[in-house]
Amino acid sequence: MIAILGQGIAGTTIALRLLERGRPFVILDNSHKTSSSMVAAGLWNPIVFRRINKSWMADEFIRELESFYPKIESLIGANFYRPRPVWRLHGSKQEFDKWHEKKYLPGFKHYLNNPPLKMQEFLGYASDYGEGEVRHTGYLDLPSFLLHSREFFSNKGLLVESEMGLQPSLDELTFVSNSQHKIAQVIDCRGSQSAKSDWWSYLPFGLTKGEVLTIRCPQLFLDKTFNAGFFVLPLGNHVFRVGATFNWKDKSIEPTERGRHELSEKFEKYFDFDYEVLEHKAGIRPTVQDRRPLIGHHPKLKHLSLFNGLGTKGVMLAPYLSNHFLDFLIEGAPLIEEANLGRFNHLFGQINPQINHPN
Ligand SMILES: Cc1cc2nc3c(=O)[nH]c(=O)nc-3n(C[C@H](O)[C@H](O)[C@H](O)COP(=O)(O)OP(=O)(O)OC[C@H]3O[C@@H](n4cnc5c(N)ncnc54)[C@H](O)[C@@H]3O)c2cc1C
Repeated sequence: MIAILGQGIAGTTIALRLLERGRPFVILDNSHKTSSSMVAAGLWNPIVFRRINKSWMADEFIRELESFYPKIESLIGANFYRPRPVWRLHGSKQEFDKWHEKKYLPGFKHYLNNPPLKMQEFLGYASDYGEGEVRHTGYLDLPSFLLHSREFFSNKGLLVESEMGLQPSLDELTFVSNSQHKIAQVIDCRGSQSAKSDWWSYLPFGLTKGEVLTIRCPQLFLDKTFNAGFFVLPLGNHVFRVGATFNWKDKSIEPTERGRHELSEKFEKYFDFDYEVLEHKAGIRPTVQDRRPLIGHHPKLKHLSLFNGLGTKGVMLAPYLSNHFLDFLIEGAPLIEEANLGRFNHLFGQINPQINHPN
């Protein structure tokens, strides 16, 4: 029997994949107390702007997510998958040139598109360097995905609400999960909180706080995700999510005045409309110093593994990597080198001095 610690996007996708494979498991989660997934905007986008490159393994990740999330919608009877183009305002002449250089290349042409509408027609003024539209992008309504999945698992007796200690023993996990079978394996999916555990204190997490606003802006008519170094994501009924900030120092999960001010200022630079802030949230992204995931076995505890480090791209990475990780765990297939936490085995026994543990 496998225990999954945490029901963010990492724990949820692992659980759904175990279900597909008919493997017994139980999820233990503390009601999303420190969840980054519940705060995230849920966007996915294969293009890295400025130099117009594709992000790491973008084609594989996009292909997998486009089949995975609709399949899960049918399985649990809920709607949370929202494909939607991104409308990018180029940030420089160099970006504009790169866009036009790459837009007909075989690996790029199904992502890069000229937008049917110009900024000038939309807002009344011309953008400095023009604009482009990215396709095969969208957002996942993460609260809906996580809460419907939670209900689905709870109804099957596969989820227990519990706050676990930082390094729970197999006996504790068996007891708390009320399982008839002994817990023999643990997959740690606790996001930023895994970094606090002695199990993983040697790993170079470089956690990043982020904040987002939800606003109502009745005069704004926008049906694509607007990106100009920050994003405005339309949620319907003139409600928009505006984000996100990046802070490597502050590790509290409370929203700040500074974050609110930064996001308001960015929004107001492009949109001269009245708006009302409905919600302001913050979370800690489980980012890693080399910007790659952390998946694989603990170097000493063979019953323990980690599925973490999804960083700023949990929605895009989780469908592909959850399957890949279980191929490794169950079938013994090799892990992608860049994601394998074994790349840091030489640090085992040391404590990562960069970790300023979140509360
Ligand atoms: C402001 C902001 C905007 C973002 N925008 C995007 C975006 O647009 N697109 C995107 O892909 N990603 C985005 N992200 C990143 C995204 O949130 C992460 O990639 C992803 O959510 C990480 O998921 P996770 O499951 O690893 O961790 P989490 O979502 O943090 O889940 C961990 C779970 O474990 C639980 N837990 C922790 N400790 C314990 C314990 N001791 N006992 C029991 N349960 C425990 C937590 O409460 C939580 O439910 C954003 C993040 C932030 C903060």
